Amino acid sequence: MDSDNPVEQEVGETAREGASAVGVGAQKAQVILGEAWNQLKQQVLKRALQSLLAAASPYLTVPVVILTGVLLIIFILVFAVGAGTAGELTGVNNPRESGGLVQCEPGEPCPIEPPPATGECAELANVPRLSYSYQNDRVGIPQGQIERVVGDPPEDPVGEMVTVHPRICDGLIGMVNSGITIRVTAALNRHDKYVAGSNRISAHWVGAAVDFGNNVAIARYMFENRSALGIDQIITGVWRQYNVNNGQPYDGYSEALLQSHMNHIHVGW
Ligand SMILES: [Zn+2]
Repeated sequence: MDSDNPVEQEVGETAREGASAVGVGAQKAQVILGEAWNQLKQQVLKRALQSLLAAASPYLTVPVVILTGVLLIIFILVFAVGAGTAGELTGVNNPRESGGLVQCEPGEPCPIEPPPATGECAELANVPRLSYSYQNDRVGIPQGQIERVVGDPPEDPVGEMVTVHPRICDGLIGMVNSGITIRVTAALNRHDKYVAGSNRISAHWVGAAVDFGNNVAIARYMFENRSALGIDQIITGVWRQYNVNNGQPYDGYSEALLQSHMNHIHVGW
């Protein structure tokens, strides 16, 4: 559960650079595919015209030529419109490919339901596919307030309630609606006040971070909806293409930090 790490301090204000290279690459591939399709379309059309003329030449009279011309124009119009529509469907208008990076993987639900913007946590009471490792998180998240506990294991309440960041609940509701199986391994629990070896207060301590049991669909959903949810950080050592820092895609986390995030996904606001 030690998702926060002294190395995390290294990733401060200088963290935005070079982050969206993968997205740019995917968009280039889309452009190349589009051009190839256009060339193929032109060649097919040309061949069809040539063979049609060759076959028709013994029978060519003025009325036949006019009729053939009209039919050809109709054919070209229909073909061009159809090709244009097909291009749109495979292009950037596909919401599942927003950003050019997110792909649906076999056996995993696609993140198709956007998160709400309600800040309502109560909807999270007793929903299927959402489980918790600790009782105070299980009780507290649907209430919008988690009771701080101490001890080892940390189960002793200290009479202090911490407000859950409302966008955490929006993210959880969006994932539940998308059919994603979620295990919250730590929200307020199992986290010291300070990031280890520093005087920086952990986002977990103030109710603004959640650790999830590994599931690529969670990393992908949070990455795709990072702007809508106002996410500050995603740290996963397994699906590194979904890492985020300062709200931006990020590939600069240290190997030590990534190694400490091999068994869970940290999402911070
Ligand atoms: Zn964490």
